[in-house]
Amino acid sequence: MSAVRPAPQEVDAVVIGAGFAGLYTVYRLKQMGLTHRAFERGGGVGGTWYWNRYPGASSDSESWVYSFTFSRELEQEWTWSRRFPEQPEILSYLEHVAERFDLKPSFAFNTRVTGAAYDEATARWHVETEHGEQISARFLITAVGCLSAAQVPKIPGLGQFKGAWYHTGEWPHEGVDFTGKRVGVIGTGSSGIQSIPVIAKQASHLTVFQRTPNFSVPARNRALSREEVETLKRNIREIRETCRWSSIGQPYDWKDAEALKVDQAALRRQFEADWEKGGFEWMFGSFRDLLVDPQANALAADFVREKIQAVVKDPEVARKLTPSGYPIGTKRLPLDAGYFETFNRDNVSLVDLRETPIEEIVATGIRTRERVHELDAIVFATGFDALTGPLTRVGIRGRGGETLAAKWTAGPQTYLGVCTRGFPNLFMVTGPGSPSVLGNMPTSIEQHVDWIFDCITHMRELGQSTIEPTAEAEAAWVAHVKELADATLFPHTDSWYMGANIPGKPRVFMPYIGGFGTYRQLCAEVAEKGYEGFSFA
Ligand code: NAP
Repeated sequence: MSAVRPAPQEVDAVVIGAGFAGLYTVYRLKQMGLTHRAFERGGGVGGTWYWNRYPGASSDSESWVYSFTFSRELEQEWTWSRRFPEQPEILSYLEHVAERFDLKPSFAFNTRVTGAAYDEATARWHVETEHGEQISARFLITAVGCLSAAQVPKIPGLGQFKGAWYHTGEWPHEGVDFTGKRVGVIGTGSSGIQSIPVIAKQASHLTVFQRTPNFSVPARNRALSREEVETLKRNIREIRETCRWSSIGQPYDWKDAEALKVDQAALRRQFEADWEKGGFEWMFGSFRDLLVDPQANALAADFVREKIQAVVKDPEVARKLTPSGYPIGTKRLPLDAGYFETFNRDNVSLVDLRETPIEEIVATGIRTRERVHELDAIVFATGFDALTGPLTRVGIRGRGGETLAAKWTAGPQTYLGVCTRGFPNLFMVTGPGSPSVLGNMPTSIEQHVDWIFDCITHMRELGQSTIEPTAEAEAAWVAHVKELADATLFPHTDSWYMGANIPGKPRVFMPYIGGFGTYRQLCAEVAEKGYEGFSFA
């Protein structure tokens, strides 16, 4: 019997997470020959796509851009079946990537990192896992995702519910069969809007508990033909290069036109044509003033309101489903597959929680101010403690034992969204203050990971052992992120971008909204100027 070599406890880097970000980080660590340990709380690779197995889960970015670009071979050998890839296919893709590049041996699965403390004397991170492992690392790289800390609201009485309950972001791996069941879904964000049409087809009755009506745009998902796949593969480099420099990391960008300056008939024609195409392009490939000018925004919002009214047959239900009071797009715009049509089904009812709020969960269902809705199962599509939540819950302590949570009491403080002062050699892939969730995630992830490894290479070449932002650079970046957000309509809306979905969370717009291409350029300039704004020791 051959002896099993003990895993190294002194390494160059610890990585947390095995989604897109963790996999690519480990790939780069291996490529550079840096010793490392990687930890993942899930039982396998996939990150978001490991946990979000709810019915209808699918990416809202087209498959040909929702993937890695670091390997031309991978790009050519993998064939996507649909325009928007569904959860099982994305998970297979990530499993394929992990196998193909031999990344799995780097990971300890089913292993939560329970704390990471920076030791000033040795300039190393001491990382602990739930299984009691202790690892000392020079670099700590978080690849924990932006939307991975599931949020179940504290509604009184959940403990007495006799049925089953689920959160979309922690869905049972064996799946859930709702056949013949009375199901309640709380929440009408992207997860609710994707899952409601699918659950409605299975359940004997579906009750949707809606707090804020949402705008939604049709995805128009479809199978890709062989010809399309061939054309996409032929042009993939060009497509991805466009993504790299676009505002949201997609192969399109804002039009060079403003809604308020074009002829209204032409505007209507454009909205209709893009509506038929489906996808995010309807908004983010549209008129450039839509998210900055309230009047321009109202034109887009009215167009979608009309679509809702045209689809939903019962005027009272249509009224309840029609959003008002906040600009379209300032809550993350969902893409749907027949969401509004679902409310025409006989087995679907809508509860407007603004009229009849939930008072408690009882043994047999949900009691609103009006009555008890009898249920066999409850689905919480209630979202996540976004962006900061996945990081603060790790228990990261920097210089002087300060926690990230304590440092960020008034909102996240970072430089470029990748590092934060007082936490030397901590790199956060797609951290708050970077474009992250405002763009195509794999594009954002690859840019961040590449920047981090260029930085580590630079440190190696110059013999520097630690890096952290200067106080001035960090303060200026935080102010810049805020200034950019304040020039848009986003801060006016209660959204998870603003932390508004989590009681007690500071109301701060967290991602960088200056455009992904601009951000990439800024990051490159910082590096070219010898990592301006960072101090090395
Ligand atoms: P979400 O957008 O935060 O939506 C949560 C929903 O639950 C909202 O409708 C919210 O209402 C409601 N809610 C929260 N707490 C509630 C309470 N106590 N009582 C009643 N209703 C409550 O969460 P999500 O749908 O999971 O989506 C989060 C993000 O994940 C998305 O915006 C997107 O970025 C990402 N995501 C992406 C995809 C994709 O790409 N296809 C799919 C799913 C998720 P209010 O609006 O009133 O707060």
